[in-house]
Amino acid sequence: MSEFTRRSFIGKTAVAIGSFAALQKVVGADLSKTDPGPANHELDGQNPDSMWPPATDTKELVQAFKYPFSFANKRTYEGGWSREVTIREFPVSKTMAGVNMRLTAGGFRELHWHTASEWAIMLYGSARLTAIDLDGKSFVADVNKNDLWFFPPGLPHSIQGLNPDGCEFMLVFDDGNFSESDTVLLSDTIGHLPPEVLAKNFAVGQEAFKNVPKEELFIFQADLPGSLAVDQKVAAGARGKSPQNLVFRTMEMPPTLKTKGGDVRIVDSSNFKVSTTAMALVTVHPGGLRELHWHPNADEWQYYISGKGRMTVVATGNKARTMDFQAGDVGYVQKTLLHYIENTGDTDLVFLEMFGKVDRFQDLSFSEWLAHTPPEAVMAHLRIDKATFDAIPKNGGVVMPL
Ligand code: MN
Ligand code: MN
Repeated sequence: MSEFTRRSFIGKTAVAIGSFAALQKVVGADLSKTDPGPANHELDGQNPDSMWPPATDTKELVQAFKYPFSFANKRTYEGGWSREVTIREFPVSKTMAGVNMRLTAGGFRELHWHTASEWAIMLYGSARLTAIDLDGKSFVADVNKNDLWFFPPGLPHSIQGLNPDGCEFMLVFDDGNFSESDTVLLSDTIGHLPPEVLAKNFAVGQEAFKNVPKEELFIFQADLPGSLAVDQKVAAGARGKSPQNLVFRTMEMPPTLKTKGGDVRIVDSSNFKVSTTAMALVTVHPGGLRELHWHPNADEWQYYISGKGRMTVVATGNKARTMDFQAGDVGYVQKTLLHYIENTGDTDLVFLEMFGKVDRFQDLSFSEWLAHTPPEAVMAHLRIDKATFDAIPKNGGVVMPL
């Protein structure tokens, strides 16, 4: 043993799987933080807080609250693709489901409707939307990166990629069980109706429908649409355009709150009237922290757009877990559970906080709560001095530092 330093000895034994118990006795080394068995080192590297959790995490387990879209199976078509994360693969996500979709230029997500409401953000490129409102009035609009749209339950709609390279977007549904496979498609409906009924309904001869698709289209390649103004005018007809705006231009509004640590844009029914899904688009600069907080009115569904971060969720019953996130991951926090999101990378961390079936974004700041409780009460609980109490921010920072 004498020619080995302790350090190089541990290094060699960590790769040469042997009798660790015996070796520990020899050198007295603590090898408990080694993992000599089979491993997926790339995934381990992306999940350092699961590999070696912080000491404040509990041995009592907390249900996983991360699911990467990388694990989701793509449904591919000529014209684009779709993949989804629902309660089926992500059991904690009871109240919301996400669908990530790509459409080529001209690629159509076909005319359809569904029971859940559809909230969406454009992540790349641009698309043309069509819908009608409850008065049968037409809505046609083009959306670009960071624009939002909202289709209430049952309203029929379509999405088509535009030049130069179509689009990619994230759809968020206010039901964890919702699947894009469970939508009512124009192609399905028409393919399952007797031709004589179609003829009567549309007041044409049966021959007119002889070429309708026999199988669902879902996504298909089509020609690019013409000008927006013409589409809007023709679709509206004599009835006129819908007075409702189903689109929200996120970047045309200034941040709701901006600090040294980052900023947040909150979009809910107070500024996007039609939407019953609330959103916070959060940017946390390197070293910054989305402050400790919780949400009193809904579970939170997260989508990580860029950067790297980690989140600890403190669950009830003396349980806590920390997980790591990066672009393309979904996170989830159950209603009222305390959490923070820390930027652990060297670029901006950007993510969505989504809340289904609520009028308003609501959060309670851990700092504000403590700062607005009598000092003696807080000091007695936390065994902190008055100077520390006085330092607690009085107005929640949302993103720290202030
Ligand atoms: Mn839809
Ligand atoms: Mn939150």
